[in-house]
Amino acid sequence: LIRLEQVTKRFGDNTVLDHLDFSVQAGKHVTLIGPSGSGKTTILRLLMTLTKPDEGTITVDGQQLFPAPEKQVREIRKKIGMVFQQFNLFPNMTVLKNITEAPVTVLGMSKDEAEERARDLLDLVGLADKCDARPTQLSGGQQQRVAIARALAMRPQVLLLDEVTSALDPELVAGVLDVLRDIARSTDITMLCVTHEMNFARDISDQVLMFDSGRVIESGPPEQMFSEPEQDRTREFLSAVL
Ligand code: ATP
Repeated sequence: LIRLEQVTKRFGDNTVLDHLDFSVQAGKHVTLIGPSGSGKTTILRLLMTLTKPDEGTITVDGQQLFPAPEKQVREIRKKIGMVFQQFNLFPNMTVLKNITEAPVTVLGMSKDEAEERARDLLDLVGLADKCDARPTQLSGGQQQRVAIARALAMRPQVLLLDEVTSALDPELVAGVLDVLRDIARSTDITMLCVTHEMNFARDISDQVLMFDSGRVIESGPPEQMFSEPEQDRTREFLSAVL
């Protein structure tokens, strides 16, 4: 579903992604791990077209992303939902409006249908009673669960998760991860996650990719990556975070 080939991204003379190749098959859950600054977030930002590669090709569902006609970029963008570290909810809208806004304006869904779906999604993330609340009235964990519902409201094929629990107080992390485990188990959505939560990565991933210096240095199923990594660099990283 997602394929990166020989993707290079530089910021000035800092080569953040260095001829990177990897792919994610439809329905799979792939987790990116690796030290801070190794380029993980940059990959998600490329897929969201928030930044452009200097070299290489990125395709989503068989369609090339850079360069591509604007219409094609819009089509691809509709297939991808993203949840950020800092929730990024619209502060002046209710929870329900946060979730229905894009389906109504971008997908042309009727308001009634969008609201019905939003209520189902709020139920899924355990916030059925918060429809009319404003984001500022919610805890960080609740805001992040609204952000997950908002991303799912667009019925994306792919969900990108960028360290979605890093900004949360420790006691709120488990609730958000439980919701994501549930989604991983009960839907066929493709997930690409950047996370420092290794137990979560172990639970949901079909494949774990270890990043270092803009390249995938090792990849494999979680049992292998966490128990018998082959690379010294992976072992060092895991012993520092586990
Ligand atoms: P973290 O876990 O800290 O988020 P990461 O692996 O996600 O790390 P990235 O956020 O992708 O890493 O950043 C990789 C490198 O690119 C870092 O050195 C960062 O400083 C640099 N970088 C990212 N965005 C920009 C930008 N807009 N301008 C300049 N440098 C940038």
